Amino acid sequence: MRTLEDLFAFLRSLDGRPYPAYKDLKGVWRGEGFDLAFVHVQGDPFASPSILEVRYPKEALGRLRVYAHPLGKVAVEDFLLRSLKARFRDLPRVGGMGHSGRVSVEVESPKILKRAGAHLGPSGLFLRFRLGLPAQGRRILGKEAERLFRALAQHLRGFLAELDLKALLAHVHQAEDFAYIQERLPERGLVAFVGEGAILPRESGVSQRPLQGAIPFQSPPSLRVAFPVPHAGEVLGMGLPQGLTLITGGGFHGKTTLLEALVHGVFPHAPGDGREWVVTDSLAQRVQSEDGRSVKGVDLRPFVHDLPLGQDTAFFSTEDASGSTSLAAAILEALELGARVLLLDEDTSATNLLVRDARMQALVKRETLTPLLDRVQDFKAQGVSLVLVVGGVGDYLELADTVVLMEEYRPFEVTAEARAIAEARPTGRAFGEPRYPLRVRPRAPLPESFDPRRGRKAKVKGRGLRELVYGEGVVDLSALDLFEEGQVRAIGAFFQRLLSLADGKTPLRALVERVVEAEDLFRLGEAPELSAVRPLELGAAVNRLRALEVRPASGS
Ligand code: ADP
Ligand code: MG
Repeated sequence: MRTLEDLFAFLRSLDGRPYPAYKDLKGVWRGEGFDLAFVHVQGDPFASPSILEVRYPKEALGRLRVYAHPLGKVAVEDFLLRSLKARFRDLPRVGGMGHSGRVSVEVESPKILKRAGAHLGPSGLFLRFRLGLPAQGRRILGKEAERLFRALAQHLRGFLAELDLKALLAHVHQAEDFAYIQERLPERGLVAFVGEGAILPRESGVSQRPLQGAIPFQSPPSLRVAFPVPHAGEVLGMGLPQGLTLITGGGFHGKTTLLEALVHGVFPHAPGDGREWVVTDSLAQRVQSEDGRSVKGVDLRPFVHDLPLGQDTAFFSTEDASGSTSLAAAILEALELGARVLLLDEDTSATNLLVRDARMQALVKRETLTPLLDRVQDFKAQGVSLVLVVGGVGDYLELADTVVLMEEYRPFEVTAEARAIAEARPTGRAFGEPRYPLRVRPRAPLPESFDPRRGRKAKVKGRGLRELVYGEGVVDLSALDLFEEGQVRAIGAFFQRLLSLADGKTPLRALVERVVEAEDLFRLGEAPELSAVRPLELGAAVNRLRALEVRPASGS
């Protein structure tokens, strides 16, 4: 087998030669205690950088088996990628054009997530990263490459032995404690837990870093619960009960910040994030209005029905949904995918789907919308919880199981007060029996929906956190809660799997669950930039595919 010394000599020999001579790097080079593989070699200095994989044999893994839970293993992988990224910051800068000399390890957010860049398997540890092979114009900078690879090899040789084991343990313990709480939320009758002292706000709307000088979270005594977690001992915090929870308060008092934290809390966070102890039901999903989105074959009747001119909404499609229609669709699609907690903010929800007050009830006789307010009892009966941020709509007060008032970023429980107010000031609105039951009609996608071809070539490309170019179209993912571009890319890769799995019979939920569970991101391709999503996100992305075609799934 070729050794790293051979690699250095080879790089030197390439100096001044045309770029394609780099292609011979492909394959495996043996180092001391690890192998370095060139998985993909770029064609020019401006192309996507080359993909490298370092492989440590299983003998090196002993000290990494510090986990007791599957999520603990993900935490080890997550930690290794972060450590590698940190180490590579010390690599020498080499000259050249385009991506020359750029080394990147993909970890984009403080979430502890499975990513294709790290894989701990029975045969060993695999870490993937990208490296721009240096060149000036089309001429290889061989000496620069050698210098870079000598430094890289030095880092890789010491990498495992010099890991900060204390920090590794803290990372793993954080994830395992998170999993412990998350798994027990339902049996404790809770939808979320927010630990004492958590830092919820971020530096800015585009930052994942905690806001400096923020007021730490303080739980209201009446909602305080304790979890005896395996590593940190007993942790205290606010437990949000199942049912209907309202988060209310004046503007700028931290309502949305709390809801956002709950949205993020479906995933564990690395130590230092501030939201380590924010834990939300694993099947929670935020839903919102989304003007202009497409909707395909959704039975909207629980919310939208009896349109003018006898238009039916039992199998409703549109290329340009309104605020209320899109919210109705988002809620029903989330239920179809198995969500059991829905998170909504009044700011991003069409008012006419949230409420119909007494005056409007009196004025409008030919009602085509059933507001969420009239479905609260149905949600409760079906075991689906709602967490609703409301500042302006008081009509929900008598239905709420829990009312949290935010004041200067501090939550207070005001459920009893809210009930008393609701009794003292009745709204006069009629809570009628909705015309259609709250029922979801499962849909089965047709395979053509997932054809990624544009002309004869497949085109699949993530564009930031909000867009996926897929075949002829662009999927707008801005209403989804995605935290890494790698998640957008994973959705693109999963769509291609759905192309072969969809058959017009299997329900969407079964399809996305199967794909997410069966597909090992590491084996899905060679790119390191893939991060885990839940079936809920994948399904929500499918629902926004304009090429989507569905049939009612059999048995419905
Ligand atoms: P609301 O939804 O009630 O109008 P937001 O959640 O949008 O309020 O919060 C308003 C502002 O207060 C935001 O800029 C946010 O970063 C900041 N903020 C939220 N929570 C805290 C906190 N605990 N400490 C300091 N600032 C906070
Ligand atoms: Mg707000």
